[in-house]
Amino acid sequence: MLCAQRLYLFTFAIRPQSNLPVPGFLIRTRDADGRVLNVLVDTGFSRSMITGPEGDRAGWRVTEDSHVVAQLALAGLEPAQIDGVICTHLDPDHAGGHGEFPQAEFIIQRSHLAVARESGAPRFGMPRAKWNDPRLRYREVDGDAEVFPGVRVIESSGHVIGHQSVLVMLPETGAWLLAGDAISFSHLADPEGRPMGAHDMDEPSLRASTRKLLDIAARERAHIIFGHDRDQWVGLRKAPEFYA
Ligand SMILES: [Zn+2]
Repeated sequence: MLCAQRLYLFTFAIRPQSNLPVPGFLIRTRDADGRVLNVLVDTGFSRSMITGPEGDRAGWRVTEDSHVVAQLALAGLEPAQIDGVICTHLDPDHAGGHGEFPQAEFIIQRSHLAVARESGAPRFGMPRAKWNDPRLRYREVDGDAEVFPGVRVIESSGHVIGHQSVLVMLPETGAWLLAGDAISFSHLADPEGRPMGAHDMDEPSLRASTRKLLDIAARERAHIIFGHDRDQWVGLRKAPEFYA
């Protein structure tokens, strides 16, 4: 697999009581002609969730500074410069900002888009207007695939059907596996022993995906970033700094 150039980490929101982060990522890579491609992974909450610096809404604190557009500015980018958005899944903390990027190509597992569109589950209903915006172009993927140079999606169902994680290859620091909510915390990196969370949909596939991700991480010697792990997150580099 080719290499991407940079990986930026964004904090889109915080849960005030526990300091749980809602992470987002920006990958900078190049196409075959050498043109820079900016690829976001998830878009955080929608603007309607923004409160003052001390407030919170539905248990989350989203400020003007943490919303996806402000976080992108830390990497020197405007929304119109985003070429692709990889959707791990369509929960409100991951897909609320999709409508900021009508020019981008959205990469999603076909099975997940189908479930979100067809199921009446409230988790997909809350941000439906954001991700079901008719302006958005979805590239539907079946299973694992290299979707941009140095960037591979890994199907990791369980939290939801058709969840996907992201494997990024960098020239200096090597492989990074963005587990997303397939493994939200380091203590869940245990295929047999992990407990199910309240928002996990399917136990057998969650365990299988956990095993799959750990096997890939071992094979690629990847750094794993867990989905909402406060203790890990505080120790990682955030935008405007990046990993190369
Ligand atoms: Zn989440």
